Amino acid sequence: MKATHHAFHLAARAHQPENTVIDLGPVRVGGKDLLIIAGPCAVETEEQIRTLAKNANRAGAHVLRGGLFKPRTSPYSFQGLGMEGLDMFVDAARTNNLLTITEVLDPAHLETLHDRIDLFQVGSRNMQNFPLLRQLGKLDKPILLKRGLSATIEELLSAAEYILLEGNANVILCERGIRTFQNDLRFTPDISAIPLIHRISHLPVILDPSHSVGDRETVLPIARAAVAAGADGIMVEFHPHPDEALSDGSQSLDPAAFMQLVKDIRVVARAVGRRVAG
Ligand code: PEP
Ligand code: MN
Repeated sequence: MKATHHAFHLAARAHQPENTVIDLGPVRVGGKDLLIIAGPCAVETEEQIRTLAKNANRAGAHVLRGGLFKPRTSPYSFQGLGMEGLDMFVDAARTNNLLTITEVLDPAHLETLHDRIDLFQVGSRNMQNFPLLRQLGKLDKPILLKRGLSATIEELLSAAEYILLEGNANVILCERGIRTFQNDLRFTPDISAIPLIHRISHLPVILDPSHSVGDRETVLPIARAAVAAGADGIMVEFHPHPDEALSDGSQSLDPAAFMQLVKDIRVVARAVGRRVAG
């Protein structure tokens, strides 16, 4: 890919040679520190989210993830607790010194979520929801923009451009696996996207090993590979009882496996001149 490109400009390394560094307090994303986001696919119960928040904090995670509005392939699948889950999610995070991230599906929800949520996630299925991107571009919160299931890197950076153009410079990109002919696992993590994005853009990029593979046995090696390839962080799903999860149980780690993952990440981080703060 060319170093300068007409499809995006503000997102280009040619426009801003130095890395964008997003100061989240406990971690400066895009600097030496790795961002660790962890939590369930969906917030389910108070007990579930509390257990996970406690474990996330203990392992060294910085941000608690938890879907309230789930973009499910089938309308018959669990759609998330919606606003009903908001208090339990935010309380669990605050009690355990964690920031919060949740996916926003509908711009109409932003007003209610804005005062409670620290980062907003744009899911893969909404990467090119341009009215939503423009809306998020008007906010002062960091945005985690996930790569579409079949999106090129140019399309991902062009989507980021919509947010930047409205004035919000705090965009974190997320590789989460793409569609290829490989159908033995859910998606194929595009590890090469990480160094390529770093070359052509100044924006931080993290990797979500959970959705990338859809298989809990494969999450740990892909998380290690992401950090080795220079990712600025990872986002991982875990659950107290993965086999009983209401969504994405097959890719969810249990708390012990998540603890091990963060331990392993610390070792790989050191080898490539990075660090997990905390
Ligand atoms: C998620 O992270 O909860 C999610 C739905 O992922 P994706 O948008 O990558 O499918
Ligand atoms: Mn999920």
